[in-house]
Amino acid sequence: MLDFIREDLKQFQAYSPHPGGAVTVPLDILDTNENPYDLPQDLKAELAGHYEHELATNRYPDGAQTDLKSAIATYVNRSASLTADPITPDHISVGNGSDELIRSLLIATCLGNNGAIFTANPTFSMYRILAETLGIPVVQGSRSETDFAIDLDLAQTHVHSPQGQGAVRVVFVVHPNSPTANSLTAAELDWLRNLPPQILVVIDEAYFEFSQTSVVAELSEHPNWVILRTFSKAFRLAALRVGYAIAHPEVIQVLEKVRLPYNLPAFSQAAARLALAHHAELLGVIPEILQQRESLHAALTAMPALRVWPSQANFIYTRLRNGEDARLATLTQILKGKGTLIRHTGGGWRITVGTPEENQRTLARLQEVV
Ligand SMILES: *Cc1c(COP(=O)(O)O)cnc(C)c1O
Repeated sequence: MLDFIREDLKQFQAYSPHPGGAVTVPLDILDTNENPYDLPQDLKAELAGHYEHELATNRYPDGAQTDLKSAIATYVNRSASLTADPITPDHISVGNGSDELIRSLLIATCLGNNGAIFTANPTFSMYRILAETLGIPVVQGSRSETDFAIDLDLAQTHVHSPQGQGAVRVVFVVHPNSPTANSLTAAELDWLRNLPPQILVVIDEAYFEFSQTSVVAELSEHPNWVILRTFSKAFRLAALRVGYAIAHPEVIQVLEKVRLPYNLPAFSQAAARLALAHHAELLGVIPEILQQRESLHAALTAMPALRVWPSQANFIYTRLRNGEDARLATLTQILKGKGTLIRHTGGGWRITVGTPEENQRTLARLQEVV
């Protein structure tokens, strides 16, 4: 059967966000890095009112996403204090989650034996997963075991050889990285600044609202850079799938060519606009989350079995000191049985900072198992 399917697809598994068996207890979902707080009720009611009275479900959504793009541009400029070379709607493309934008970038660059992507592991797995489904080769670099800085000598070797089909055309980095929670270093930023213009540099700022570090102010100097952002994390809209890319207008035009015409439902566009209109309120919980991160970090550091790294995001990366990955896999399942879901990845655990109550339970359950 399935003789019509591409041979290379047969080996892949469908992506599963929360792998593992059935759930029998109430779960603290701390493996996907969302904001632990839902939209406030009054904003949900406002959105429901918009849906009930204004949104025509028989009509296609605004395919150009005009209002949303201009609201995003305003937000980006304000949050970066950009007055000189401001971001305009022509610098923005919107996706059904930033996952869609990652796929569009891959289609626009490497598809059809036109090159490879470079990632330094451990990092966000979606770059590799999406590249593989498109038959695009992935060149993997590595990171320091001490602070997860990218091995730049190795990266440089990969990026400059070989030429032809296997040549690296796109470099993907996350700022700060997932799962390891470290921001780009000065050396890494310098390396990205000096990459040749025929290489696309994708800087994924999914956690910008937590880290408050962005390269957006430098974008105008680098027409080969794309910044990715999302409404799925700090902005509390993971259910509605909205991400955006910020780049030179010529790069944006290419993304606009590649995307599906009505990629973002009207309801999602309305929700993202509402979130931006109320950004101060929605992002108002970030100081609490960061303060919780510091308490969680201190408590994890006090556990002798764990090695814990600093975090610039809303999650913490930790490994067992005696380092057995197989034991981590077992413990992840045991924790899930107790009601705490965390992500086992890259030889460690990535633990989302939740509400104070969730974090207390995480600590208590970790203390029971490690
Ligand atoms: C969560 C996350 C995203 C967001 O993806 P969406 O498709 O917008 O939900 C993108 N990049 C990284 C690194 C992430 O961790």
